[in-house]
Amino acid sequence: MVDTYAVMGHPVAHSKSPFIHEQFAKQTHQAMQYLKIDVPEDKFLEYLTLFAFENGKGLNITAPFKQQAFSLMSEITDRAHIAKSVNTIKIMQDGRLFGDNTDGVGFIADLTNQHHFSLKEKSILILGAGGAARGLLYPILSQVPRCIMLANRTLLTAQNLADDYRPYGNILVSGLTNISGTYDLIINATSMIQQEVFTLNPSALTRNTFCYDLMYGQEPTPFLKWAVSNGATKISDGLGMLVEQAAESFFIWRGVKPETKYVIEKLKNPSVG
Ligand code: NAP
Repeated sequence: MVDTYAVMGHPVAHSKSPFIHEQFAKQTHQAMQYLKIDVPEDKFLEYLTLFAFENGKGLNITAPFKQQAFSLMSEITDRAHIAKSVNTIKIMQDGRLFGDNTDGVGFIADLTNQHHFSLKEKSILILGAGGAARGLLYPILSQVPRCIMLANRTLLTAQNLADDYRPYGNILVSGLTNISGTYDLIINATSMIQQEVFTLNPSALTRNTFCYDLMYGQEPTPFLKWAVSNGATKISDGLGMLVEQAAESFFIWRGVKPETKYVIEKLKNPSVG
């Protein structure tokens, strides 16, 4: 029987993870299958226990279970511990659960490998203070940026998140509608839709600002449309980050690092190769 992996979340119907891991498995000649498991909101522990009992080898965890997964691990990496959130679980031979968070390294890998963008000495604006922003902060601070402004609709959430990360670097906070300053990189880590992006201050960007949206889709996202309409010339959605974080999970499970560029291209353009 081949080794079984899965993504657990709610909802997961839209998830591209099975496709991505199938591509990685083919490319690296790994005998494995990857499933999508939609978990009712109050049943995460039950589903996780059953998956491990049935000899499942590893999981990706997506919203809304990343924080709950964190609380259930027997062993955890430093980066997951700092983020208080787990997106990758490896089920060990003896049934113990090893947890990691690969979102931040996935983001940095996409920025570095695909976009050749260095964070060192850069001024960075992060929009949002939810789970995704939490996963990004430590990996970003490790790259020694000049400053980070964390802007969120609910100011108190941004303040609490910044307080958690004070030991690792200096972070300023702001509301979403009164952002001051101009930035080298703006990261959208909110789930804002079209209407709300127009409350952002366009003077936060210049034509050289790199605007990166964690969201992705067939169409340009509302944030990226806003960025372009305000003069940005360098933009990216979060598809590359999705593939890079998956590659890191795959490495944790299988010990082989797959090639990502081809898979990103294939997701953007399914007729590729
Ligand atoms: P989350 O924990 O639910 O946080 C949502 C964030 O968005 C909060 O900061 C929230 O602000 C803000 N927000 C929600 N609705 C808003 C609105 N109408 N106007 C302004 N702000 C609003 O979600 P998450 O897990 O951080 O995910 C955020 C985004 O990142 C999602 O689109 C997700 O798909 C994407 N993501 C992508 C990847 C990838 O690999 N590319 C990985 C992880 C996440 P409040 O605090 O005020 O509620």
